[in-house]
Amino acid sequence: MINLTGKNAIVTGSSRGIGKAVALKLASLGANVAVVYAGNREKAEETVAEIEKLGAKAKAYSCDVSSLHDAQNLVSEVIADFGGIDILVNNAGIIKDGLVLSMKEEDFDKVISVNLKGSFNMIKSTYQHFMKKRYGRIINISSVVGINGNAGQANYASAKAGIIGLTKSVAKELAARKVTVNAVAPGFIDTDMTGSMPEKAREAALNAIPMKRMGQGEDIANAVAFLASDEASYITGEVLKVDGGMAI
Ligand code: NAP
Repeated sequence: MINLTGKNAIVTGSSRGIGKAVALKLASLGANVAVVYAGNREKAEETVAEIEKLGAKAKAYSCDVSSLHDAQNLVSEVIADFGGIDILVNNAGIIKDGLVLSMKEEDFDKVISVNLKGSFNMIKSTYQHFMKKRYGRIINISSVVGINGNAGQANYASAKAGIIGLTKSVAKELAARKVTVNAVAPGFIDTDMTGSMPEKAREAALNAIPMKRMGQGEDIANAVAFLASDEASYITGEVLKVDGGMAI
């Protein structure tokens, strides 16, 4: 049985969706959670209240992860408030879909900046802390489209593929310090992000899933909790697909 009692976790993008499910799962296993959001304070406070009901400590932090300066300030604040960090979940993400022909340069840059550079910024800001601690769990949320590509998502798929390269590189850098770095690659998960897709695209995605159902945030949270646990201490640089068979 996974036990995260006494561990402190930062989960970016945990005001909603997959990040919220991850934050609640980690808290249900005993972890305290820094709930990071971009602009949705009300939703972040709801996550905090639900975590506190589970008996764990939680606090909401506003931070744009695409800014290294903001990421560094966030990490300093969390260390001051919680006394240290054991688990970092880089989950914050956005989409700005379109075919390359019509994709604006700023939409390419923005998606790379939040999804990929955001993960880099958070890793860079916690790197020394984990090194000194000689312990840490970094879990980056990629996507099956980072493995297979997807028409209309060149920016997002590039960012998610980049996260896999980032994961494997940092895993090699930090392995000797007992810090594991892994990625989870979700398939098609029921959140605001997929809720905004056109009905036709949703149908097509659903048809591509051998299990014939969308995933839930909890499906991803279970995988993250395992990778955050002591039971996963010999797993690093891995990419775990959680997709109902979508990318077999
Ligand atoms: P979501 O429901 O749209 O939630 C996105 C979260 O990220 C929110 O908490 C949002 O905060 C936060 N966020 C956005 N930009 C940010 C920024 N610049 N700095 C800090 N936080 C920021 O998304 P989701 O579907 O749960 O997706 C979560 C992760 O899973 C993303 O990385 C996504 O790419 C990945 N993923 C999702 C699916 C899927 O099918 N849903 C599949 C594969 C991978 P606010 O609430 O404040 O806006």
